[in-house]
Amino acid sequence: MKAVAVFPGKHVAEVIDYAEPRIEAAMQVKMKILEIGVCGTDREIAAFEYGTPPDGEDHLVIGHEALAEVTEVGAGVTRVKVGDLVVPMVRRPCPHATCQACQAGRADFCYTDDFTERGIKQVHGFMTEYIMDDEQYLNVVPAHLRDVAVLTEPLTIAEKALAQIWEVQQRLPWGCPPLMSKVTDDAATNGRLNDEAHAANTSTNISTSIAAYCHKAVVLGAGPVGLLGAMMLVANGFETYVYSRAGSDDTRGGLIESFGAKFIKAETHTVEQMAQEVGGIDVVYEAVGASQLAFDVIKVLDTNAVFVFTGIPGRKGAVEIDIDAIMRNLVLKNQIVFGTVNAARSHYEAAISDIEKFEQQFPDAVRGLITGRFKIDEALPLLRQGSQGIKSVVAVN
Ligand SMILES: [Zn+2]
Ligand SMILES: [Zn+2]
Repeated sequence: MKAVAVFPGKHVAEVIDYAEPRIEAAMQVKMKILEIGVCGTDREIAAFEYGTPPDGEDHLVIGHEALAEVTEVGAGVTRVKVGDLVVPMVRRPCPHATCQACQAGRADFCYTDDFTERGIKQVHGFMTEYIMDDEQYLNVVPAHLRDVAVLTEPLTIAEKALAQIWEVQQRLPWGCPPLMSKVTDDAATNGRLNDEAHAANTSTNISTSIAAYCHKAVVLGAGPVGLLGAMMLVANGFETYVYSRAGSDDTRGGLIESFGAKFIKAETHTVEQMAQEVGGIDVVYEAVGASQLAFDVIKVLDTNAVFVFTGIPGRKGAVEIDIDAIMRNLVLKNQIVFGTVNAARSHYEAAISDIEKFEQQFPDAVRGLITGRFKIDEALPLLRQGSQGIKSVVAVN
């Protein structure tokens, strides 16, 4: 069978002929790969910047954003059955008995860095025709999500972020919608609402604006991770804004508005203007990896806000930031900034259930994220070229 592999030592990436896996243990599950999403991590691995073959091998089969169909199960398998659609998890625990996280089934919080990741770090990935995995790493997907479930893995990043946002905000009264006094006090004392909105709020419109008011979330970046994060925030009741450069791609703004978020163009709005338009940023989901932008936004967070980093900046020159202002706000406004990576089983389950919500609430928008489907033989050019469209998918079977 075919597999897309990189040979880091030789700086070669190619479609190789690969032995089809066979079930050898009771808990193993054999699957036919249906679709594989391609992301920036895959492109970095294909450019040999990243990615480690299994010990003793010279190549790594890539691909980690998979949707598969179960074709055969070991004698002890109970979680899945033949014909089920499944999304496999990516990370596998480290071997250390002292790693509390991995021992507790939370390899996404591994302390040691000795975890492995399929298609990324020391275990072969999913960009091939058939794969094998232990049933404990599989998440069943409803059959009617066949066309969009390949988006599950990239959505898990946002789901883990959101789960942690709810957890950290348990530190304060953070119900939704907030009390009317919060809006009027803020408007009066902090200039939270601009004059026009303030005027509207103090007149007959006040009941409608209070009803519409909820936690306000800003997503930085309009790539697949940012757009999936924005959909998740909308589906979970946040008034959601996407702040990004539109560039030459005008269609993205339309897509963003189509699922109920608002698009604020970085070309026409400074960070301060964006914050003013939002009118009090409660949550930021950062999905762009640009440090200057991120810290400029941290400076304009509202009281009790949470800022989540998911992007990884490239190594560029030093950037100038006003650390005193940020530190002052962090303290005086009770703010929290944290980073997050990878995901646990509960986040896969949340992602699958949110994709189901997306399908009900804005089916065209969620389908619109997948902008290209390619054959496995077309995977190499896809990996070499920069990202085109939003999410490219290799449709294997
Ligand atoms: Zn990915
Ligand atoms: Zn560990």
